[in-house]
Amino acid sequence: MPDSVQITPRVSVSHQALMFPTLTPAQIEEVARHGETREVSRGEVLIHVGDTAVPFFVVKTGKIQIVRPSMRGEEVVVVHGPGRFTGEANLFLGRRSLTRAEVAEPGEVVELSHEALRHLVQTDPEMSEILMRAFIYRRVELVAHGFGDVLLFGSAHSAATLRIREFLTRNGHPFTYVDLDRDPDSQDLLDRFHVALSDIPVVMCCGGPGLRNPSNQQIAEALGFNEAIDQERVRDVVIVGAGPSGLAAAVYGASEGLNVLVVESQAPGGQAGSSSRIENYLGFPTGISGSDLAGRAYAQAQKFRAQIVIAKGATRLACDRAPYAVEMDDGSSVPARAVIIATGAVYRKLALENLSQFEGVGVYYGATPMEAALCAGEEAIVVGGGNSAGQAAAFLASGAARVHMFVRGSGLADTMSRYLVQRIEQNPSIEVRTQVEIIGLEGGDHLERVRWRDKRTGTADISDIRHVFMMTGALPNTDWLHRCVALDDKGFVKTGADLSDDDLATARWSLPRRPHLLETSLPGVFAVGDVRSGNVKRVASAVGEGSIAIAFVHQVLHQ
Ligand SMILES: Cc1cc2nc3c(=O)[nH]c(=O)nc-3n(C[C@H](O)[C@H](O)[C@H](O)COP(=O)(O)OP(=O)(O)OC[C@H]3O[C@@H](n4cnc5c(N)ncnc54)[C@H](O)[C@@H]3O)c2cc1C
Repeated sequence: MPDSVQITPRVSVSHQALMFPTLTPAQIEEVARHGETREVSRGEVLIHVGDTAVPFFVVKTGKIQIVRPSMRGEEVVVVHGPGRFTGEANLFLGRRSLTRAEVAEPGEVVELSHEALRHLVQTDPEMSEILMRAFIYRRVELVAHGFGDVLLFGSAHSAATLRIREFLTRNGHPFTYVDLDRDPDSQDLLDRFHVALSDIPVVMCCGGPGLRNPSNQQIAEALGFNEAIDQERVRDVVIVGAGPSGLAAAVYGASEGLNVLVVESQAPGGQAGSSSRIENYLGFPTGISGSDLAGRAYAQAQKFRAQIVIAKGATRLACDRAPYAVEMDDGSSVPARAVIIATGAVYRKLALENLSQFEGVGVYYGATPMEAALCAGEEAIVVGGGNSAGQAAAFLASGAARVHMFVRGSGLADTMSRYLVQRIEQNPSIEVRTQVEIIGLEGGDHLERVRWRDKRTGTADISDIRHVFMMTGALPNTDWLHRCVALDDKGFVKTGADLSDDDLATARWSLPRRPHLLETSLPGVFAVGDVRSGNVKRVASAVGEGSIAIAFVHQVLHQ
């Protein structure tokens, strides 16, 4: 039996060492203090595919092999010898195991329950570092190789395909993608099973029936993303939104002992998750992609036991009684002693009649490698003059034939960071067009042409461009609050010193103190990040506000 890793034939030796470190005898003894050491016999199954809250094993003697079911039968993914350990990110996420662990050679193992492992990670920084790194690298490998239980049949002509690919990717769930435009055999097969065009994409997973054009919520349910989470218990704090601000609040809150639940309507990462490279976030001199940052923050929040409900949107804040409750779109409701509103913002949509027809099939609101691949070798338009537009243009220019930046104003200097302006000016593949606006979109099942107008001359033109990236000003995600808290004239949540006496009188503020920094017109309800009135729209400020809010949550809880 080889003591080698089969999933990673192309990864470097140092990468392998990070994924599959060997614990020293002293480290094994340390782990053993948290669990039980026991003998195991050949063939014994330690973890089944689909198990949740699985235990963690360290091999003392003998071998454990990790097997995954695949379309070609079963594959041995890796064999762990003495000093090596089982697990990947799912262990922390409390999600179902994608693989089976079974004893390949009898011997002795250390076994820790799911809870004991979490305790070890929280109390032992050395082990925490080794295990977290290994789990995250293992998950990245699984995602990169599409090693999972999900098969997605889709098409570049279906907007839902991009939605589902983004949903699975941003939730770090491995999947295999079959492009029906390039694989006529699969299309044939689906035809035989009467899968209509409107049923595409189809998601097959977990041995269940194929899901035809499923919602994100249906996928989350099928994959058991939220299975391990008790959504009825009263929480110290419920955080709505898992962008940078919400995840930061979750990390600080949970690490400081609060019972934290995060509710996220899509996937962790928020707007930052749709960024190709964030270069101005402290501590990452060479930049970090939004999805990497989100993935790390998500894992960090889980490490401290914050729980994150995925693909469930908050629809209402029940604010007329204590504890408050956050109601969700599946009809459930989570009670909370304090609430942090971290629902961020979305790009303003251009007022174009048939915009929705092309969303996901030519019109995009994020510029990740997935969208970049869709417009490789073709021309693209980026609409907007802010940092996110500049970042998207610079990123897309490396693969697209040409990138046109459509800017409403007369230049970039007032709205974009200097480093990005320079980068754009120096890139021959990017053309900046000022004072132009899109006036029409044309096409069939994909965008084919864009009509635009030069605002100075009033002349209109048409270009055969199939990809438009909308990176225009932000609108707050505050509809769900139904004016439960005071908002400014643009709909952003007012907090702290920005709340006037009138705001507080209207909200019937009843406490002798004024609202804390970041506190809304409702005591114990805070707003952080892009959703907050006056917020600087940056990752760092979102993260900073998320952490500061927790300090005030403690004060409110001890009131
Ligand atoms: C393409 C792009 C590139 C960017 N690049 C940079 C950069 O380089 N540097 C920088 O500093 N900043 C950058 N930004 C800005 C930065 O990403 C934002 O300032 C930051 O993400 C704000 O974080 P947030 O948590 O407040 O909100 P968001 O990131 O907007 O997150 C809000 C979250 O709440 C969820 N949500 C919304 N409504 C509900 C609901 N009703 N129920 C449950 N969940 C809900 C959303 O799904 C989302 O996940 C960029 C933004 C974009 C779009």
